[in-house]
Formats: sequence, structure tokens, C-alpha cells
Amino acid sequence: MNWPFYKFVTVRNPSSAAFFPKKSLGQNFLVNPHFQQKIIEACELRPEDVVLEIGPGKGVLTRPLADSVKKVLAIEKDNFLAPQLEEEFAGTNVTIEHADVLKYPFEPLPGPMKVVGNLPYNIATPIIEKVLAFRHKFPVFYMTVQLEYGDRIVAKPGSKKYGSLSCFVQYYADVQKLFNIPPSAFSPAPKVDSCFLSLHMRPKPVHPAHDEEFLFMLIRACFSQRRKTIRNSLAAVYGKEDTGKLLEKLKIDPRMRAEDLSLEDYVRLANQNASKLPF
Ligand code: SAM
Repeated sequence: MNWPFYKFVTVRNPSSAAFFPKKSLGQNFLVNPHFQQKIIEACELRPEDVVLEIGPGKGVLTRPLADSVKKVLAIEKDNFLAPQLEEEFAGTNVTIEHADVLKYPFEPLPGPMKVVGNLPYNIATPIIEKVLAFRHKFPVFYMTVQLEYGDRIVAKPGSKKYGSLSCFVQYYADVQKLFNIPPSAFSPAPKVDSCFLSLHMRPKPVHPAHDEEFLFMLIRACFSQRRKTIRNSLAAVYGKEDTGKLLEKLKIDPRMRAEDLSLEDYVRLANQNASKLPF
């Protein structure tokens, strides 16, 4: 038996053979080592860091994270991948939590932790909302999201992409798009481009609102009618007459549209809550 017959024998890993990526869990795995490395470098990790990883998947980021920091807590919902990760990382500085990140209790987590995740795109917004709600524990959040969605997060006034999502995230965090990632870097390849963002939490908002709930309600109301002038959109909140007086007082041009107002403008408007108007 000199003939190397073994060359023709395919050794199949039974676990990988049984696995099919689930669309419902937003499973597009990052397979390009160049982007894996670029992400890890962009996270500016230090040996004393503790990292919360959202959706470790097959562990391509978890491994280099574990090599770079003190501890990693990784939350994975997939019933197939989570036990494999648990087995691989048993007895290391990585703790795998087989759980849904949206239900996982953040209250008991010790801070500060850096948050890192190639997010499942279908639940990116509730994940961001949850991390922002616990921003006192998480000084920075590094994430991969769809390019179009990431562009909306970092958009500035005057841009078509600027909207209530931009205002909401930028109120709490200093946001930056670090680089784009092509579909070919993932398997299966998504239909759209992606990008990598950093959200550095602000110790306090640059322009604090007296009532944040009212601020975001006001912003949503204005952007829900993007084509209307700000005078017409605000009339629904403050009444026609008070709106005119308010805009004049704050020196905001009533002919502007929602996308022309800065976050500071919205805060100034919200802080003049109708019930407290001096006229
Ligand atoms: N980090 C891996 C990578 O870069 O290849 C996987 C990224 S994949 C885009 C998203 C991951 O989040 C998948 O592993 C998926 O199973 C996981 N996931 C989806 N929904 C989740 C949830 N609600 N809680 C925790 N993990 C979730």
C-alpha cells in the first residue's frame, strides 16, 4: 500500500457538517483574516481590559480578544455554537454565556467593560439601545453594522442620512466610522456592505436635555415629516402661535427642515417645554 490513498479521503468534521448559518440570527461570519486583524487593532485593547463580546459566533474575534485582554465575557444565542465555544474556552480567560443578549441582565456586570461585536444586523437597534442604557459600565462600544445603518448613526446635520437615530446615539456617544467592510469578507456574504464603528460614551451629554424622553419624542416627531418646515412640524407639539414665538426666541429659522437642525437646536427646543413657556 505505497499509494497515498489517504489524499482522497476527506476527513469531515461532523460538527461543521451539521452546521448551517441561520438568517434569523443574522449569521454572517467574518472569514477574512485581514478584517479580523483590522478590527482587533482598531479596538485599542490593553492587557488590563475586560471585554463583553456580543455574538462570538465561531470565535474568530474571541480568540484574538482573549490573547489581548484580561477577560472576555461572550454572549452567544445559537444553540449549536454556544456549547462548542463553551468547550473550546473552558478553563481560559473567556466565559461563554449561552444566552440572548437582549434578555441577559447587564445590571450585575462589573464595569468598566469594552463592548465588541459583529452585530446580528436584524437586532442592531435594540442592542445599541441596551448598551447605551448601561453606558456607565461600558466606556466604548465597537461594532460592525450594515454600512447604510452605520452611515445613519454618524450622519451630521444637512445630510439625507441624518435622522432620529443619529441624534439619539450622538447624544450619548462620540461616534466614528473607522472603515468599511465588503460583503466578500463574510460567509455567507451579505447583500450589502458593512462598516466598523466606535461609540465612545460621553461622561455627560454635550448639551443636556431637562427631559430626555421629551427630547427624543420631539426629534422623532420632526423627522417623521422630513419634508415639512420645522415651523409646521413643531406646531403639532407647541401650537402654531407658540411655535412662532419659540423659534424667534431661539433664533431658529422657521423655514428650516428637520435635517437642518443640530442636536443642540433640538435640545434648546426641548428645554423650552411648552408647559414652561414664559409667554
Ligand atoms: N462574531 C462572529 C464573527 O464575526 O464571525 C459572528 C458574527 S454574526 C454577524 C452575529 C452573531 O450573533 C452570530 O453568532 C449569532 O448567532 C449571534 N446572535 C444573534 N442574535 C443574538 C442574540 N440575540 N444574542 C446573542 N447572540 C446573538
